[in-house]
Amino acid sequence: MQTWTIANQKGGVGKTTTTLALGHLLVRGGRRVLQIDLDPHGSLTRAHGVPVDPAPTGALDLFAEQPRAIAEVARSTPLDGLDLVAAQPALATLERRGATQPGLGRALSRALAELSGYDVVLLDCPPTLGLLMVNALAAADRLIVPTQTDPLALHGLEGMLRTADMIERSRSRALPTAVVPTLHDRRTRAAQDTLVVMRERHGAHVWPDEIPLDTRLRDAAGFLDPDLRRGRGLRAYDDLLDWLLEGETAQRDQVA
Ligand code: ADP
Ligand code: MG
Repeated sequence: MQTWTIANQKGGVGKTTTTLALGHLLVRGGRRVLQIDLDPHGSLTRAHGVPVDPAPTGALDLFAEQPRAIAEVARSTPLDGLDLVAAQPALATLERRGATQPGLGRALSRALAELSGYDVVLLDCPPTLGLLMVNALAAADRLIVPTQTDPLALHGLEGMLRTADMIERSRSRALPTAVVPTLHDRRTRAAQDTLVVMRERHGAHVWPDEIPLDTRLRDAAGFLDPDLRRGRGLRAYDDLLDWLLEGETAQRDQVA
């Protein structure tokens, strides 16, 4: 089982869309996938048609003093092979508890260590560097950083990569990191220039392609829509997934 964390300290960069797209495509490729929504806003949860008011059982229960097992709080989705741990708005209160409940930074790693039955677990993060993101980074086998191709996003990317670096040094194993240019509008000069700078600064980490702006990706709830499958947005995510899986084979070969 592999845990992939989708994170960026900036909001609106395509984290949830990337989580949805990769989940969808992994399942289509025959893998069993669990998505965990760690964002108190619950966009991923809502995209699956699960209302967040009243709060469903879900991710917060993994952080209780007597935590529940992931298998107990996961629910099935209309897509066969894809399960979800829902977000609750009260996840936002967790940050305050971090100081008083020791070991809370590794709660998710502990919960995942007990889990089986999935090939890939996808963690959708909130856009803040807090306890939830720290948990998701600590548990990650790989980090995926969706980044909008606009000049302001570059700044956020630097911060995110520094954080990833810190986490990598604080644990005993590497954290392979992939930067994924998203919402890319190839018609604008600023977007093209940003891509060039991104690749100059972070070359090896950056996926050599981009996820284009695609209005069909705008409505996340439509991920089961056959129309979406024809769109270039989802096709680009398919290429991304191939690249990620190739990287994994390469890493395994290196270890072998
Ligand atoms: P985040 O989770 O980082 O906040 P989202 O995945 O929710 O970002 O994306 C922000 C908004 O942009 C959403 O409305 C989403 O549907 C839309 N969006 C994401 N990726 C694309 C894309 N490639 N083309 C068009 N719209 C997109
Ligand atoms: Mg999101």
